Amino acid sequence: MLSVQKVGIDAGGTLIKLVYEENGVFHYKTYHISQLESAMEWLKLMAPSAKVALTGGKAVFLSKQFFNDAVQVPEFDAACNGARYFLDMDGNKPDVCLLVNIGTGTSWFYLQGEKQERILGSGIGGGTFMGLGELLTNEKDYTHLVQLAQKGNKAKVDLTVKDIYMGEDTPVDGNLTASNFAKGKKDEQSNEDLMAAVTNMVAETIVLLTLQAAAIHQTNEVVYMGSTFSGNIPLKNVLESYKGMLGLNTRFLKHGEFSGAMGALLAI
Ligand code: ATP
Ligand code: MG
Repeated sequence: MLSVQKVGIDAGGTLIKLVYEENGVFHYKTYHISQLESAMEWLKLMAPSAKVALTGGKAVFLSKQFFNDAVQVPEFDAACNGARYFLDMDGNKPDVCLLVNIGTGTSWFYLQGEKQERILGSGIGGGTFMGLGELLTNEKDYTHLVQLAQKGNKAKVDLTVKDIYMGEDTPVDGNLTASNFAKGKKDEQSNEDLMAAVTNMVAETIVLLTLQAAAIHQTNEVVYMGSTFSGNIPLKNVLESYKGMLGLNTRFLKHGEFSGAMGALLAI
């Protein structure tokens, strides 16, 4: 049995994130939503007297099924409070920043000291990567889809500005995407190329929305988090590649996939 006093659980659209404290040390666990029953039964068995705080879209469902006495924490509050905690841990917390949470879908928050506002949302997110990935390649496994993306060439799928200008001078950087997926079946595309293009489309859409939000809110500090970054070097690479061009100061939050769960735990 674990000597656990507090557990924070963030049950989202795809993954369940769990943070628990044992003898002053935080432990982090992730389960797929399909493992919900077994994960919760394990927890109740191992930490029967722990206080539980729940957040995320499936928090109420979880409380009805497993934890009647649990504390409920609103999803956006939990995400931002957890992020603040991890930014503090980092030792380099900006006074003001945009927080971009790429989960199944994507949410943008404007953080100012202890205040926050959810300013934007998009259906383009980690779920798009998974769902479009499966439709295009028949592959369902997250890690495998990321590996495919890493080896692919998006230029076989996307139309760039220089493709349209056929070698003539371009009014903007010729390597920029003119149209995602626009090559259709013109080139022979592998599953790797298709996944590189999916990753690029998700990342580009998020970068462009982030840029608009940054302009409106007069900040260039951007903090990315969410499980869509787990082991996802290709996604990080695309986001990094825009950093210099757009003058954004971006970082990937350490433990950022657990912000919601940590924010919930801290509410106990
Ligand atoms: P939301 O907050 O939108 O309700 P969520 O909280 O479940 O959803 P996250 O856990 O932050 O969202 O991120 C989910 C995404 O993480 C998936 O869509 C996928 O792209 C990625 N991911 C990372 N690891 C896995 C995994 N083992 N299985 C499935 N998806 C994974
Ligand atoms: Mg979430």
